[in-house]
Amino acid sequence: MQYKTFNNGVTIPQLGYGVYKVTEDDIVSVTSIALESGYRSIDTAQYYNNERGVGAAFKNSGISRDELFITTKVWNSHQGYDKTMQAFETSMKELDIEQLDMYLVHWPAPEHDLYIETYQALEQLYKDGRVRAIGVSNFEINHLERLLDHCDIPPVVNQIECHPYLQQRNLKDFCKNNDILIEAWGPLRRGGTLFEEPIITQLAAKYDKTPAQIILRWHIQEDTIVIPKSVTPSRIKENINVFDFSLTKEDMDAIYSLDRNERMGRHPNDMNIME
Ligand code: NAD
Repeated sequence: MQYKTFNNGVTIPQLGYGVYKVTEDDIVSVTSIALESGYRSIDTAQYYNNERGVGAAFKNSGISRDELFITTKVWNSHQGYDKTMQAFETSMKELDIEQLDMYLVHWPAPEHDLYIETYQALEQLYKDGRVRAIGVSNFEINHLERLLDHCDIPPVVNQIECHPYLQQRNLKDFCKNNDILIEAWGPLRRGGTLFEEPIITQLAAKYDKTPAQIILRWHIQEDTIVIPKSVTPSRIKENINVFDFSLTKEDMDAIYSLDRNERMGRHPNDMNIME
């Protein structure tokens, strides 16, 4: 496993396990498989309703707390200083841990204009030692500019939709210039047509790897943190097995050529739901 170092010195495994849409029934068993397979970073959220199972899988694993990196996020309906403080306590109870590794503002939800206040709660939690790193998710450049103007503690990460069809060059450059690491959600674009792209299938044949592994390797060489999700044991193992080969500059360029600014999720400006 490779690690990335945040602007505050804390390190995170560059590849973690995402658990969006993993059900309460499955969460303990699949997270346990991920931990047995070598994953040491888990990405959950209050909204996913599976924090308790993540905590239980960790407890069952026997892995020491300082080896595991746990991320969770405050949901839109809990934005605002006091509500975020309460949401944090609820998440900590569910996860059943003493200190969180990373807490993120899940979406800016700009219509409600609460993300600065929400982030100020994260800053307080960081100052109090309750969380080792704080950051944001789905923030566009204008949201980040405003946040950086108002915050004492800059975010360590911006977790955004990112894959070969949505490469986010401008946002990546802005984050790089401001010492904020990119964490890609939907790094595989949830499979589908991207896995059938000739450029991807040809590279898979060249390296004797799967399309998923080629795409994840591209992210890794882009210095991006990735959190692929799968509930299939063989795929969970496949997705972490990307550290024994390297794409050439020409291969990376070929994948860059696939960018078509195509989202599968909502644009952050349009994601203001509060339920
Ligand atoms: P993903 O790109 O990781 O795709 C997951 C899907 O791809 C799986 O359900 C499966 O259908 C397929 N897949 C995975 N591995 C495969 C393999 N090896 N071969 C074939 N198919 C495979 O998409 P995601 O789950 O949306 O994103 C990953 C994680 O990012 C989530 O679980 C969650 O933790 C996080 N996330 C965050 C946000 C946010 O707003 N911050 C939004 C969505 C997801």
